[in-house]
Amino acid sequence: MQSTMQDVPLTVTRILAHGSTVHANAHVTTWTGEGAPRRRSFAEVGARATRLAHALRALGVREGDPVGTLMWNNADHVEAYLTVPSMGAVLHTLNLRLPPEQLAWIVRHAADRVVIVNGSLLPLLAPLLPHLDCVEHVVVSGPGDLSALEGCRPQVHAYDELIAGSPAESYDWPELDERQAAALCYTSGTTGDPKGVVYSHRSIYLHAMEVNAAASFGLKPGETCLPVVPMFHVNAWGLPHAAFMAGTSLLMPDRFLQPAPLAEMIESERPTVTAGVPTIWQGLLAELDAKPRDVSSLRTVVSGGSACPPSLMKAFEERHGLTLVQAWGMTETSPLGTVAHPPPGLGAEEAWPYRITQGRMPVSVEARLIGPGGETLPWDGRSAGELEVRGPWIAGAYHGGADGEPQRPEDKFSEDGWLRTGDVGTITADGFLTLTDRAKDVIKSGGEWISSVELENHLMAHPQVAEAAVVAVPDEKWGERPLAAVVLKDGSSVGYEGLRAFLSERIARWQLPERWALVPAVPKTSVGKFDKKVLRRQYADGELVVTTLG
Ligand code: ADP
Repeated sequence: MQSTMQDVPLTVTRILAHGSTVHANAHVTTWTGEGAPRRRSFAEVGARATRLAHALRALGVREGDPVGTLMWNNADHVEAYLTVPSMGAVLHTLNLRLPPEQLAWIVRHAADRVVIVNGSLLPLLAPLLPHLDCVEHVVVSGPGDLSALEGCRPQVHAYDELIAGSPAESYDWPELDERQAAALCYTSGTTGDPKGVVYSHRSIYLHAMEVNAAASFGLKPGETCLPVVPMFHVNAWGLPHAAFMAGTSLLMPDRFLQPAPLAEMIESERPTVTAGVPTIWQGLLAELDAKPRDVSSLRTVVSGGSACPPSLMKAFEERHGLTLVQAWGMTETSPLGTVAHPPPGLGAEEAWPYRITQGRMPVSVEARLIGPGGETLPWDGRSAGELEVRGPWIAGAYHGGADGEPQRPEDKFSEDGWLRTGDVGTITADGFLTLTDRAKDVIKSGGEWISSVELENHLMAHPQVAEAAVVAVPDEKWGERPLAAVVLKDGSSVGYEGLRAFLSERIARWQLPERWALVPAVPKTSVGKFDKKVLRRQYADGELVVTTLG
């Protein structure tokens, strides 16, 4: 028997059309630092998207062409997000925190023809342009010093003028195949070279539906979502698309990502949901502790991108009444992989052990654990192995560059097509994933594995510790042993012996670090995660002052 259902493609075009009509009155609000925030209704975004599409077509953008964005989280970026894929072109979000050479490499690898850039980021882009032969047009959004672009080869346009000068009549949006490329994002390169992940219309659409599911973040009409996670970090975790689907207003922080303006915008704009990496929340916590604000509008604070210390979750809850919800994902997983909502009906104490896991997969994400010998491990909450996943918004390959074929490196994709995440953990019978480490960060001490994440979580629960990162360092006797790099809070008096004693009440003796270093800050990656690669190098180069306890 054949299905009698219509086969209508799932596209970003549909998300744009739906949001800008059915949810015409929802808003994108962009924080401006000083003065009133700028508001733009979803209807206005839709109207401007039409003009932007005409303008980009006039610049020569055709189906399949990559269009780069080097932008903060703001309304113009949202317009590009929805317009570029709807034209059949490919939105390539560029990470503005990458070292310039890496950024240039990525633009060339993707062969971006147009780059839309915030004026405030021209000092970053302008010096790269002589090395970016592929770029034909630069479109500048917002104020900036255009003299930086004088004499540059690509043609320069002002975003608002381009929009104002383009036809307002409807754009002939193409009929797209839902499987064609819609957006491109390179991994942040915590481990190795950046790799391009190409999202399809279908993957973005299905992923946004999952973001809106009650079992995930449940965005609703009338709510406001504050994506602190940058729009260049895995499509801001799908939140802009999800918001246009659900009719949820967006509060965009632009470049005001520091704790004080974040606290201010939460107090005055009253978002209900927000999302970011743990280091952002660590900063916000310190800010709120020092200068309390009314943050009671927030029903959910999503923490993802790296392990969320349980002590941070507790502190937010006890001191500010905020609920942190942990989620796990990767650039390769769009990123929604798991969300840690406890099973229903549990009291706070019973729910806690579930909330501090990475959470459960949605129906569209299948998971398996692979042991050291390649065997599939049981979901028993004890057997630890590498997590592999598959599903309709999980990458099956990497972008091979302008003329290259997609790449399927063996260490990243199994023979039968699953994504090897490089994350190590356990899964319980009812599907709760607990990650103990990245495979590359696991400490292999005398045949036993020590979880760096577990040690970090315990250390960060110490009242005098601001941050702590634990890495493996070579050891003659044991192969590897843990080194703890600790950032103390101002005015702290605790010494290494005190920290070690604190740990010894919580973990087995053989896991206790002997090597300790005080550092002014834990090095961070371009998306704010602990950069353990840098710590290991600093140790190897003798840059850390290390104290060894007997
Ligand atoms: P990169 O791999 O370059 O850092 P990603 O942003 O894709 O860029 O990082 C994905 C990785 O981040 C995951 O493989 C995992 O190691 C880590 N991660 C993400 N969320 C969590 C979480 N909730 N708990 C622990 N680790 C996490």
